[in-house]
Amino acid sequence: MTADLATAPQLPFWKRKSLEDMSAGEWESLCDGCGRCCLVKLQDEDTEAIAYTDIGCQLLDDFGCRCRDYPNRQAQVPDCVRLTPEVVRTLEWLPPSCGYRLVAEGRDLYWWHHLVSGDRETVHAAGVSVRGRVAALEDELPLEDFVDHMVRWPLRLPKGAASRQRKGEAGRPRRPARG
Ligand code: SF4
Ligand code: SF4
Repeated sequence: MTADLATAPQLPFWKRKSLEDMSAGEWESLCDGCGRCCLVKLQDEDTEAIAYTDIGCQLLDDFGCRCRDYPNRQAQVPDCVRLTPEVVRTLEWLPPSCGYRLVAEGRDLYWWHHLVSGDRETVHAAGVSVRGRVAALEDELPLEDFVDHMVRWPLRLPKGAASRQRKGEAGRPRRPARG
């Protein structure tokens, strides 16, 4: 039997396009708005290992979890890393929840991603974003205090987040799919 191409459901763009083939709008929409990558990271001089802190970049809106001047970010924060397909495939510190990392690894987006849920609040409801978890912004603390703010959670998925449904939906009965 052959599928009727006119009626076959089309796969979403992140499942059928490579990172390189995405339009600018599709590329930008892959960001789930978690804000994790906008936390300050420290690098060990000897081992070059990178550790996250719970200190936000000076431009991070720690409630909205967005950059406060995204179009001019690199003029204001020269070490802000501009993500490209090549950079995404080489950066080891991108969080495991990051939409770019997931797609680069051939994986699907999680339920909380706004492209799946249709709601930009679900990344916060799932506990994946940095909302409520940023101790300070980098211009609010002396540099010598940064080392006291090293944290591991940005490189982990919150417990249960991968399977948890959005608040209020957990007990909702599901309809069986129609064949
Ligand atoms: S970690 Fe990835 S998904 Fe989260 S804000 Fe950064 S680029 Fe977007
Ligand atoms: S400049 Fe903006 S995008 Fe870059 S790390 Fe800071 S808050 Fe994030």
